[in-house]
Amino acid sequence: MTPAPPPGPPWWMKKPALQTLIDRLRADGYEVLGPRMADGAITLAPLTNLAHLPRGVRDDQQPGRYRLTMADDGGYFDHVVGPHSLKPLVFPPRTTVLEVLRVRDGWEYRTPEPPQPKRAILGVRACDLHALAIQDRVFLGGAYRDPEYAARRAGLFLIAVNCSRSAPTCFCASMNTGPAVRGGADLILTELTDGFLGVAGSDRAAPYLAAVGERPASPEEQAEAAAIPQRAAAQQTRRIDPTTVHDTLMNNLEHRRWADVAKRCLSCANCTMVCPTCFCSTVNDVSDLVGTHTRRQRVWESCFNEEHSHTAGGPVHPTTKSRYRQWLTHKLATWIDQFGTSGCVGCGRCITWCPVGIDITEEVAAMEGGRV
Ligand code: SF4
Ligand code: SF4
Repeated sequence: MTPAPPPGPPWWMKKPALQTLIDRLRADGYEVLGPRMADGAITLAPLTNLAHLPRGVRDDQQPGRYRLTMADDGGYFDHVVGPHSLKPLVFPPRTTVLEVLRVRDGWEYRTPEPPQPKRAILGVRACDLHALAIQDRVFLGGAYRDPEYAARRAGLFLIAVNCSRSAPTCFCASMNTGPAVRGGADLILTELTDGFLGVAGSDRAAPYLAAVGERPASPEEQAEAAAIPQRAAAQQTRRIDPTTVHDTLMNNLEHRRWADVAKRCLSCANCTMVCPTCFCSTVNDVSDLVGTHTRRQRVWESCFNEEHSHTAGGPVHPTTKSRYRQWLTHKLATWIDQFGTSGCVGCGRCITWCPVGIDITEEVAAMEGGRV
């Protein structure tokens, strides 16, 4: 699912005008979230001040490695994607879907109303906009719409930023999901040397752009802005060919590489937790100790957990080999059969946050040699 192209003409704004944007959004009832440093990573967290942004911070990302480095100067958005995507904002890791309370005559059942937070997210990247569009298809596009997802999604105001650099783990250029933002956001910013170029991506962004935009961007500024994500794309060395990967994987279901990767994989589920599109969940009943209040909770689940595929006769995927194969073939092949798009946007998070550095692009490349 490709987000719609942005409609508006470009404006130039001073960097401090971002504070005006944050203030206006907060005055309109939005909680503003953006990139902030916490626990040695760039996380997505509430912010009220421009000084909260990780100015001059860069992320060194490699398979199984993530480190931050700092410079005295530098831009507000020099980093790439951190462990947080938009996923937890629309599909929280833990949600109460039913409450059961003991009352005098028996039990009372309550279905909580889905919360409807108004949230403006600053600094969203192209790959994560594509991931959100994929999740929209999963949670809203079929016969069964998820009411909690719908309520949370409707409250999002998305301020995207074009990436100025790529991490070595990024491969969005090959997946046609970045690094340039092609739509799907309310406002699209590109950080220039001495300001931002801003484009309204939706009608509701127009008043904000009018408040912070100083003047129409010059042709030189537009050219500078266009070159920035192109430069980031040129830095990418990892790739997956989205036109061939489906058949590569499905024609190699018995490839010896599956056993090879199973020896390295810890089946820890990290890759599925950080992935912006993985959507599996399970349901647990949690009762208080005196048995008067029970909550039915929906929590994130992973195909790397043995119980995930447990049926009456036992798990369908009892081995790490079958679990890894299930994950990779769904992500890059059968997701296309199921939803019409790839389940991967090339953000590289699963490579960075895999504790043993398993690289999805390397595993696909190993299959491309054909059957053994
Ligand atoms: S599979 Fe990996 S690279 Fe692809 S979207 Fe998920 S985390 Fe990102
Ligand atoms: S591929 Fe890596 S992150 Fe994913 S389950 Fe295996 S060890 Fe964990």
